[in-house]
Amino acid sequence: MVQRSELIAYLNDLLAVEHFSDYCPNGLQIEGCSEVQTLIAGVTASQAFLERALAEGADTVLVHHGYFWKGENPSIVGMKAQRIGALLRANANLLAYHLPLDAHPLYGNNRQLADRLGIAITGEVAAGPRPALVLKGRLAQPVTAEAFAAHIEAVLGRSPMHIEGGPGKIQEVAWCTGAGQDFIDAAAASGVDAYISGEISERTTHSAREQGIHYYAVGHHASERYGVQALGEHLAERFGLKYSFIDVDNPA
Ligand SMILES: [Zn+2]
Repeated sequence: MVQRSELIAYLNDLLAVEHFSDYCPNGLQIEGCSEVQTLIAGVTASQAFLERALAEGADTVLVHHGYFWKGENPSIVGMKAQRIGALLRANANLLAYHLPLDAHPLYGNNRQLADRLGIAITGEVAAGPRPALVLKGRLAQPVTAEAFAAHIEAVLGRSPMHIEGGPGKIQEVAWCTGAGQDFIDAAAASGVDAYISGEISERTTHSAREQGIHYYAVGHHASERYGVQALGEHLAERFGLKYSFIDVDNPA
């Protein structure tokens, strides 16, 4: 058990939230009970996730995609009212960490994806906001583009969309989890053989073909399943919490 205030102070410090200029608030987004005993993590605070987490006794939920995104209608109506109402009625806390949880060197989505795909991190690609959200790395040995696609599918349980654009063999790669497809130009300029992200746009195909780089869209959800799990497991161990991760499938 831990006081909510202590948990939040620990998380905000660990994830260095003050260093990020983000599209949503990071930290406590919805306030519930003041003591945390049962923590349940998920990628997105969707209604389906909340219903399962609250049914399993969560007093606090930890997610990568919370609420209150820049540019959205700020009114608490419709889908948003349903979700927030469920949390408030259950007196449960919603903790959300977006960019700080992509970038963390140990628990971050980028690091966790690299570990699973067997990529040794060698540096970062100068692109996007700071701290770095696009990393560079190296595979243990060169592989064909088809073999790399098969490897991704085996690891993530989801077939990636591969845009053929680069050399016959891949060894140097760059990646950014989630909706990082527009960093492909910076990745190509950095000289890597392939770029990996969650989503794809129509323009991404042309960027890959015209700049001599392979592109793999591996799924936004699939690429961001692992950071929140690594963080949740760490918190459970550190603070002696009851903990689980709930994966609500998302093909996107
Ligand atoms: Zn995301």
